[in-house]
Amino acid sequence: MVSAGADGRKRMRAFMEQAYPLCRSITGNGVRATLDLLDAELQAALNGPTLFRHEVPTGTPVLDWTVPKEWNLNRATLDGPLGRVLTTDDSNLHVVSYSVPTEVELDLDDLRPHLFTLPDQPDDIPYRTTYYREAWGLCMTHRQYEALPQGRYRVKIDATLEPGHLSYGEAVLPGLTDDEILLSTHICHPSLANDNLSGMAALTEVARRLSDRPKPLRHTLRLLFIPGTIGSITWLERNRRTTERIKAGLVLAGAGDRAPATYKRSRRSSSRMDLVMARLVEERGGAVIDYYPYGYDERQFCSPGFDLPVGRLSRSMHGTYPEYHTSADDLDFVDDDTLVDTVELVLAAVEAVDSEPRYLNTQPHGEPQLGRRGLYTAVGGAVNSKSTEMGLLWLLAYSDGEHSLNDIARMSGLPTEALETAADALVDADLLRPA
Ligand code: ZN
Repeated sequence: MVSAGADGRKRMRAFMEQAYPLCRSITGNGVRATLDLLDAELQAALNGPTLFRHEVPTGTPVLDWTVPKEWNLNRATLDGPLGRVLTTDDSNLHVVSYSVPTEVELDLDDLRPHLFTLPDQPDDIPYRTTYYREAWGLCMTHRQYEALPQGRYRVKIDATLEPGHLSYGEAVLPGLTDDEILLSTHICHPSLANDNLSGMAALTEVARRLSDRPKPLRHTLRLLFIPGTIGSITWLERNRRTTERIKAGLVLAGAGDRAPATYKRSRRSSSRMDLVMARLVEERGGAVIDYYPYGYDERQFCSPGFDLPVGRLSRSMHGTYPEYHTSADDLDFVDDDTLVDTVELVLAAVEAVDSEPRYLNTQPHGEPQLGRRGLYTAVGGAVNSKSTEMGLLWLLAYSDGEHSLNDIARMSGLPTEALETAADALVDADLLRPA
């Protein structure tokens, strides 16, 4: 369906254009307005899922954390001896996110510690936050900073930082079983496009495409639109039972810059999503990397107490491109073709996780005696590496519920048909059962 891709491209671009100016943070009305837009996107699909809104009060204990105060910005301005220096009406990156309300007049030297710039990228405004330390600051281009004259400056950060709520969105596409695939993305960054708008746009498009599917998936699909770190921690605190049903998952972040795909394995390293993505991403010339404990919300999902089979899909690795966390990560930085490619990759992964046959070895302690069951006819040296007999051994060795026939075909170099024949024989002998 050519039109699905073309329409999707337009939809994703339109969504990003609408959402780009909103002043998002880990809490506040910018997040709620973004959830409104996401809800409208999902409702526009044929059988689009409802976006459930969750509002968790400030002060709620969540795992080892506490839901913070809610921050809302009206406007931040800086005026100097020559007049207006900056206003967040031009870019919401000009204020350090979570800055405390401030109205102060001070000399340039006293102002400097509150100003943030990028000396190596003198035309870009940096993105800075102070979520968990009450402080204030302003961000500007280094060129603008260097031109500031001595004199008196007036800072006004017209904002509120008060008890309120943490907001996040959750949608469920019911499948034929309670087994779940979790897809999660961040909604906490202000006017930055690749980080996080591309993830929101791609995940919404994935949901639309899967909800248009003529037959439901076997897995139930759960979509999370959450603020970084505190959002996944809050969700995990409130959904411990749900986590037991998650069979595969993906954090989607930085989905639209022009680099090839990068898949970061889950901490388990060979969960079904890890195996499927290793194939799909490598086929496309992308990179597959091992788990490490920093990055995005995979840190929370993969923390050892949960150890969920959740990997991460990105294009460039975060922090490795100069546009990252700067005003240069704008709408032009996101490439529509790449974003469509990310959507297709996620759809292919979901379909593969959902549909590829996987088995469990029912006699996993030592090799079962195949000769006794008439399954192993080979004698000394007669075993051809392409034979069904080899397929029996590969299937018994890797049928752990995570490796599919396709994964085992790739590892063993055996033709899929030989593995299918071998799998049928092992199922008949009660040595394998469908996972
Ligand atoms: Zn970021």
